[in-house]
Amino acid sequence: MSDERRDTNERPRLGVSSCLLGNPVRYDGRHKHSDTVTRVLARQFDLISFCPETAIGLPTPRPPMQLQKNARTKQIRAVGVTDASQDMTDALSTQALAVTSHMGDCCGFVVQQNSPSCGLRGVSVYDEDDRTRQVGTGSGIFTDRLVFEQPHVPIIEEEKLGSSLVREDFTERVIVLFQWRRMLAAGLSSARLIGFHGEHRHLIPASDNGIGRSLDELLATADEGDLKVRADAYLSMLMTYLGARVE
Ligand code: SF4
Repeated sequence: MSDERRDTNERPRLGVSSCLLGNPVRYDGRHKHSDTVTRVLARQFDLISFCPETAIGLPTPRPPMQLQKNARTKQIRAVGVTDASQDMTDALSTQALAVTSHMGDCCGFVVQQNSPSCGLRGVSVYDEDDRTRQVGTGSGIFTDRLVFEQPHVPIIEEEKLGSSLVREDFTERVIVLFQWRRMLAAGLSSARLIGFHGEHRHLIPASDNGIGRSLDELLATADEGDLKVRADAYLSMLMTYLGARVE
């Protein structure tokens, strides 16, 4: 998906798993309210709620789901814990496309960990033929597709925000993407691109000067003809670098 979308908001928008905002939408009818999200992040960002499971029409409360892996095909699917015929995989994946479209101006996402829909990584995966036997970990179906569709958009699990270092890193990446989109909304030009680079060059320390030089070189030959290609490559390189600083 293109990052060349218009963003006229005063503040960056963050997509947030609805249960983290205190909405009782979990399978058990409860919520997972996060003070860090609603008190700390809300100071800087507008929070936009989403719940993939209720969005695909599941009721609350509802039977729990889990990720199950087929030993032969290696395919992972989100199915009912007690009734594997309740297969929500395709609907959850499609819901990520809907969110990508309707919440495309969100510059970051905070998701609930350990969810077969929203978890980013580390979600328990069970054997399809023995649903009590864990065979590994993986990503929730919805978030896996979200990452695929929007590779440059920062996504983090709420529990990671407990570390101020990680939280500040995430916040910075969201703001960088927000500023990038504002730059694009004003109209892409080589002057604006070079200006953006100048304003953000400090994010790359001298110890990582390889990536800094690569970005410099990418823009050094920028002309209006292939500007869009270079801008896309620049964003990809910058966000990949920033996303790997803190794990
Ligand atoms: Fe909905 Fe995701 Fe929260 Fe589950 S983890 S209740 S799917 S927002």
